[in-house]
Amino acid sequence: MRKIIVQKFGGTSVADTDKIKNVARTVIKEKENGNDVVVVVSAMGHTTDYLVKMAKDLSPNPSGREMDMLLSTGEGVSIALLAMAIQAQGYSAVSFNAMQIGIMTENVHSKARIVDIKTEKLRKNLNEGKIIVVAGFQGVTEDGEITTLGRGGSDTSAVALAAALNAERCDIYTDVEGVYTTDPRVVPNASRLDKVSYEEMLELAHAGANVLHPRSVETAKQFGVPMRVRSSFKLDNLGTLILGVEKMEIYKPVTGVAADSSQARIVVCDVPDKPGVAAKLFTKLASENISVDMIIQSYARKVSNTNDIAFTIDMADLSKTVSALENLKSEIGLTGDIQINDNIAKVSIVGAGMIDRPGVASTMFETLGQQGINIRMISTSEIKISCLVDKDDAQKAVKALHEVFELSCDETADVKGDLPDV
Ligand code: ADP
Ligand code: ASP
Ligand code: MG
Repeated sequence: MRKIIVQKFGGTSVADTDKIKNVARTVIKEKENGNDVVVVVSAMGHTTDYLVKMAKDLSPNPSGREMDMLLSTGEGVSIALLAMAIQAQGYSAVSFNAMQIGIMTENVHSKARIVDIKTEKLRKNLNEGKIIVVAGFQGVTEDGEITTLGRGGSDTSAVALAAALNAERCDIYTDVEGVYTTDPRVVPNASRLDKVSYEEMLELAHAGANVLHPRSVETAKQFGVPMRVRSSFKLDNLGTLILGVEKMEIYKPVTGVAADSSQARIVVCDVPDKPGVAAKLFTKLASENISVDMIIQSYARKVSNTNDIAFTIDMADLSKTVSALENLKSEIGLTGDIQINDNIAKVSIVGAGMIDRPGVASTMFETLGQQGINIRMISTSEIKISCLVDKDDAQKAVKALHEVFELSCDETADVKGDLPDV
């Protein structure tokens, strides 16, 4: 039986028609290798950012449904153009959006999870020898409503398609040559990793390494889909393989450093110190589909019998969170302030090598201290330590941590594409 390869090309890779021709050549090469090919594409260049900007110009709080209707259009353009480019090079290709295939998601706007992918149409067209081009980032609910998977979600579309089709591999083509020890736009001599485990990559992605959408790694791990991240522009480069931890050898305590500036910190002051209160607070947030990241509860103050609860959320959920907390005030007897700080960033170090290796956390704290960076919150997992710092300190922190954990190399990374000017 022929093998299926899923390829995904991000925005920079399809930014103009010349780049789309280049993608068509890469796709055809894989077909010429004797494989069936399913290609997932993102919107061209910074299209999605411009669409978001237009929406915000018109409404401070656009409805989730209309945002998804709007943002899903970007991918519709690139699939048709890529299918035409492939056809123009003499190969049979067909483009499909999520609704045409049946990329089914939960009924949630702006960060829906894929629950099922229908494969009949895909298999039929592959059997007819066609290259299939699929719109990333979008899904459809059982009621026929359009959803999107969250910014950067085309990676997840690709891995989910690879899992559904039992594909041989999912190749993520992007504007850098793989996964690096940190964002090469911040540290130009960051090192490219030949391999990284699903576990570490998942932590890095959650910590802000936006080279991969976190749910794509989660899905790859769950279904054992081998993933490779590589450059669209330098095809001789092997990129980075993402695979199970048992296949890895661990040398260094830290594999990578990441920063996430898209969070806000909320402090709920003077919360009554009695059982069930934290549960009520976080159940309310969960019911509004708000994900909470770091959480700290202070020691109870004996006199007032209250404590403070601080937590971080995605900035996009800020207004939803504030109104949820306001609604809770009378229910759980909140009398204190609700403080909001969106001038913060989470800086994290990640590495399976830190398990059972003492001194990694202290080195991190000491390094930040030497740089005069104040740590506002700390959270840890088995293979990650995160510190919340002021936003202005984030890049300095990343550079210092990358240096102290000896992650640099002599070469300068090749980075394509510009940051959006919106
Ligand atoms: P695409 O449009 O192809 O999906 P993205 O912009 O989503 O591309 O992701 C690629 C970008 O991720 C790179 O240009 C780089 O700036 C950024 N990045 C952040 N952390 C890392 C990392 N650890 N390794 C590689 N790239 C990273
Ligand atoms: N076009 C979407 C975005 O910019 C999805 C993606 O690129 O993965 O977020
Ligand atoms: Mg991306």
